[in-house]
Amino acid sequence: RAKADGRRMLQVFDPEMDRQTRERYALQHDLRTAVAHQELLLHYQPQARIDGTICGFEALARWRHPKRGLVSPATFIPLAEQDGSIVEIGEWTLREACREAASWPSPLQIAVNLSPVQFRFGDLASLVHSILFDTGLAPGRLELEITEGVLIRDAQTALTILRRLKSLGVKIAMDDFGTGYASLASLQSFPFDKIKIDRSFVSGVAGNGQSAAIVRSILTLGAALGMPVIAEGVETEEELDFLRAEGCAEIQGYLLGKPQMIEIYAEQISGRGGRFDYREIKSPALL
Ligand code: C2E
Ligand code: MG
Ligand code: MG
Ligand code: MG
Repeated sequence: RAKADGRRMLQVFDPEMDRQTRERYALQHDLRTAVAHQELLLHYQPQARIDGTICGFEALARWRHPKRGLVSPATFIPLAEQDGSIVEIGEWTLREACREAASWPSPLQIAVNLSPVQFRFGDLASLVHSILFDTGLAPGRLELEITEGVLIRDAQTALTILRRLKSLGVKIAMDDFGTGYASLASLQSFPFDKIKIDRSFVSGVAGNGQSAAIVRSILTLGAALGMPVIAEGVETEEELDFLRAEGCAEIQGYLLGKPQMIEIYAEQISGRGGRFDYREIKSPALL
């Protein structure tokens, strides 16, 4: 009797769930033509040394949907990973970001996110090689951000690709560090050029003992392994002061600047001889 009830419960039609599912499929369908229809764009967020000197920007994808407006990557990247369209989107992102960065003064670097799916389909190292050649960007100015997801499925193949990428001269950063299952093991398996502390540990670090302990231990780990650490999601002066006191090398976050169209940062990029102070670009609301 109870079993029968359970089965009946599972068959209950949920119109809300149905609507969400159809919406996801519709979005996923539209996404397949987003590159061809030139609906994707990149926003750029500054990254700086702890003294406020800007060293580069992270490229973050946005989708301008013809009817829904700007769609967040948190929504469309997972959809693109599911049906493989991330391969085309990822290639577009990489090419566009490198093309943009090639026009900047040479000390400035560009960071680009890679999806684990890009490691499984297509020849990623050859793609990066040809994009660097086509855009003329020096390999040392490109940093590829990967998450532990890359190393979870078929770690051996992923490591081979990462080594080929490094031999091109590009840098590899471990993104969202501390949020996955295999954090420590992944640091041991590959010499990352940088560790990015996830925003969830950084926000409120100044007033939260647990976050502070985690951030300190990641900084200690980075120092021991010779991997510089960048903190993402730095929003307040208190967080910045904490990170400086604890020896963090670099920061990224709203305190420095939000992801924006690159035109917003044009003045900081051109004609400053490669030295920029984050106080010059902080939006007035933060001053
Ligand atoms: P991520 O690579 O960890 O990027 C950092 C995210 O944190 C960005 O969200 C950025 O806008 C946000 N953020 C930075 N500083 C702050 C801050 O101070 N406060 C707060 N509240 N947020 C901050 P966004 O742009 O929505 O991107 C989300 C994620 O989508 C990225 O996380 C990345 O994993 C993924 N993504 C974005 N662009 C691409 C892409 O071109 N390719 C791939 N594979 N993934 C991408
Ligand atoms: Mg990233
Ligand atoms: Mg991150
Ligand atoms: Mg993140």
